[in-house]
Amino acid sequence: MHGLMMDVPLSIPSMIRRARRLYAHREIVSRRPDKSIHRTTYGELISRSARLAKALQRLGVREGVRVATLAWNHWRHVEAYYAIPSIGAVLHTLNLRLHPDDISYIAHHASDQVVLVDKVLWPLWEKCAARVGAKHVIVMTDDGLVPPGTLDYETLLAAEDDTFPFDDVAEDRAAAMCYTSGTTGQPKGVVYSHRSVVLHALGLGMVSSFGLSDRDVVLPVVPMFHVNAWGLPFACAMLGCGQVHPGPHLDAPSLLALFQDERVTLTAGVPTIWMGILAALDAAPGQWDLSHLQTMVVGGSAVPLAMIRGFQERHGLRIVHAWGMTETSPLGTVSQLPPELMDASPEDQYAYRARQGRPSPLVEIRARNETGIVPWDGTTMGELEVRGPWVAASYYQTDGPDDRFTADGWFRTGDIVTIDAGGCITIQDRAKDLVKSGGEWISSVALEGALMGHPDVAEAAVVAVPHAKWDERPLAVVVLREGRTFSEDALKAHLAGQFAKWWIPDAIVAVPSIPRTSAGKFLKTAIREQFAGHYGLTDTAARGSVS
Ligand code: ADP
Repeated sequence: MHGLMMDVPLSIPSMIRRARRLYAHREIVSRRPDKSIHRTTYGELISRSARLAKALQRLGVREGVRVATLAWNHWRHVEAYYAIPSIGAVLHTLNLRLHPDDISYIAHHASDQVVLVDKVLWPLWEKCAARVGAKHVIVMTDDGLVPPGTLDYETLLAAEDDTFPFDDVAEDRAAAMCYTSGTTGQPKGVVYSHRSVVLHALGLGMVSSFGLSDRDVVLPVVPMFHVNAWGLPFACAMLGCGQVHPGPHLDAPSLLALFQDERVTLTAGVPTIWMGILAALDAAPGQWDLSHLQTMVVGGSAVPLAMIRGFQERHGLRIVHAWGMTETSPLGTVSQLPPELMDASPEDQYAYRARQGRPSPLVEIRARNETGIVPWDGTTMGELEVRGPWVAASYYQTDGPDDRFTADGWFRTGDIVTIDAGGCITIQDRAKDLVKSGGEWISSVALEGALMGHPDVAEAAVVAVPHAKWDERPLAVVVLREGRTFSEDALKAHLAGQFAKWWIPDAIVAVPSIPRTSAGKFLKTAIREQFAGHYGLTDTAARGSVS
């Protein structure tokens, strides 16, 4: 019997064929480690990607084999993104900010057979190599000089022609994999399918999410090893966006120069990066012409309202706040103003935009507490659960059943949220970061956002500290803006205007800097450990020091 419609697989090669035909002249620009600029086009890049595909096949890479990358964001890394899944192999991006022990564990767990390494990252890879057991190590460099026992990427490509056809791959086949950071235990692998990558790329194109089209020039500040640069290199190929990649240079002046010179229209990254950018813009307003920059997608941790307002009011730049996870590819929710708020006051609009937004089409949400599924009333907290075609259904080779996946097919995110009647979520905390004071929950995210709205404060993190009477009480650490003096009382008074009295941290402490994870988020386990005894209890077991 004939099917109703054509059975065309949703596969990455179909996106690459489209880019090759329609967008051959569209540019892909990268900053090299020596800061010089490299320019290529989809036409050239896909031709080289075809050579890489053939070279990998010649090395014996077959379907399902894991091929790892340890690399910054640049054109060769994009070539690997397109070639590896197109031969049915699995692109495994290693996080170069992790400790060598963690990189080794992850590469070993994934059984990576081939590794593509940036030459500038060779010292890091050398610390891992012995423990991974990869069959081939390919070094990406311009100078042709590679360490003994490794293969030179450019030599491999030069030996092939570009006749690789980019034929479709079965859509349920593994295309790529990423590991979660492991801040909640051992890192766990999430495997994306061709189908999920293609649908996710379409999702990024929707106006209600990132609204990408072939008029865009996209600069992902988010690393290609962090949830595949949020899927942007794939979406850009499908939708024909120009691409700009910063290489290892993520300092504010380098990024601002690329935004200006390459006429970037959309960029994306975690709040930490934008804090630096905002400070640079404030220090030298008008120095860069950013008139092409329409959207800065910010997510990965909560974006303080003060940051959204600062960019908008002082520099005319628009932040779009989004929520997602490695397990959700990552597109989950996006905070675009709903029609009923288009004429609302700036205050109401900022308040909405500082929330994490509504679920993307094809992503469903609900939240649950001890009594069951919570009402969408904007006040009842519960753990967010999601389902959708680009949400993980399992982790890669873990022992035993995983309680993160519910019996009725939802993924438990570990994030505590409220959902309003319109379906807009507000992340209150990660479940493990909530402050549980006298049986009530206090949102550290809300307190942090408010503290970062005070003119003296550059950064703020709030953690739970064991307390004899209340089990836990909040404690805030703050990094002051340059030239400001610290007043605990003034900061408490600032919070008192916005929160119930019992939410106010018992102590606010000034610190020189806040420790961060490999993805640039506050490392709350480290802060909790440091201040565990601050309220007089020495027993940190109340919380578990590294959970
Ligand atoms: P990890 O942070 O563990 O390295 P992910 O990058 O997958 O791994 O992070 C996902 C988590 O980041 C979410 O579960 C959530 O706690 C947090 N997160 C992501 N986006 C936001 C956001 N916009 N606001 C608040 N928290 C966020």
